[in-house]
Amino acid sequence: MRKPSGGRSDVAELQVPDDSELMPRPQVREDLDPSRAQPVIQLGDLAVSYSGKLAVEDVNLDFGYREITALIGPSGCGKSTVLRCLNRMNDLVLGAEVSGRVTYHGQDIYAPEVDVIELRRRVGMVFQKPNPFPKSIYDNIAFGPRVMGRKQDLDDTVEEALTKAALWDEVKSKLKQSAFALSGGQQQRLCIARAIAVQPEVILMDEPCSSLDPIATAKIEDLMQDLKREFSIVIVTHNMQQAARVSDRTAFFTATVRDDGQRVGELVEFDTTPRIFSNPKESRTEGYITGRFG
Ligand code: ADP
Repeated sequence: MRKPSGGRSDVAELQVPDDSELMPRPQVREDLDPSRAQPVIQLGDLAVSYSGKLAVEDVNLDFGYREITALIGPSGCGKSTVLRCLNRMNDLVLGAEVSGRVTYHGQDIYAPEVDVIELRRRVGMVFQKPNPFPKSIYDNIAFGPRVMGRKQDLDDTVEEALTKAALWDEVKSKLKQSAFALSGGQQQRLCIARAIAVQPEVILMDEPCSSLDPIATAKIEDLMQDLKREFSIVIVTHNMQQAARVSDRTAFFTATVRDDGQRVGELVEFDTTPRIFSNPKESRTEGYITGRFG
C-alpha cells in the first residue's frame, strides 16, 4: 500500500499489507480473469437500518481488485446505503445503524481502532452532483494533500491527478480560476481528480453521471476504463446500459415488501456483468434487465 509523503503521524494506520505482499500489480490489466480477481472489500451479512427501520439486509459481496463493480436495481433498494458503508459515510447519517462485516483487505473497517479519515483517504468517494470546493482548480486538488500535511511541491501532484482524470489539457492554462467556471462534466472530473490526489485504492461513485449530458457521461465512462488500471471502482447507477458498458461485475439489488409492510432491500444476484445481462440465474434479475419490472 502506498503511503502519502508527509502523512499524519498522530493517527493509527490501518494495518494493510504492502502491495508487493498481498496485491502484486498486474502489468497488463487485460490478463486478469474477472472471475478470479482478489477482493479488496468484502461484505458479510451486511444490514443497515435508519432510526430502527431496516433498509437493506443480508448483503454478501466481494469487490474485486482493479475491477469496476456496478450496483444496480430499482430506486430505494439500498444501493447508495451499501455504497456508503464501504468507507463509513453512513457514520455521518443520523440514525443509521450498520451490522455485519465490512472488511478492507481482511480488516474490519468498523473496528474501534480504525482511523476513519485514513479509511476515507484509501476509499474515496465521488458524489451524484459535482461538488467542487469554492476554490481554484489548483486548490481543489491540493486540498487533500495539504490536509495530510504536505505544504510544498504540490505542482506535480496536481498535474498528475488532473492528468489521470483526463482534465489536465483542458485546465492547465487556468489552474488559478474558480472551479465553478468549469462545465458540469469538467467539475465531475475535477472531483475525481480531487479523490485521486490523496492516492486512494478504491473509488466509490454514487450515480456520477446522473447530472451530466451524454457527451460528458461518455467522457467519464471512458475515464473509468483508464482508472481501473490503477484503482478498484464501485459505481451505483440507475442506468443499466451504463452498468453493462463500464463494469466487470454487477450486483443486482431489489426491495421486497415484508408482511409488516416494510420495504427492505436485498442483493438478488452478483456475477460477471456479461452473465448478469445475458444469462442471469434469477428470474427477478431477468425481469429487471429486460424492463419487465422496476
Ligand atoms: P437506492 O440507492 O437504491 O435508491 P437508498 O440506499 O438511497 O436506495 O435507500 C434505501 C432505503 O433507505 C430507502 O427506503 C430510503 O428511504 C432509506 N434511506 C436512505 N437514506 C436514508 C436516510 N438518510 N434516512 C432515512 N432513511 C434513508
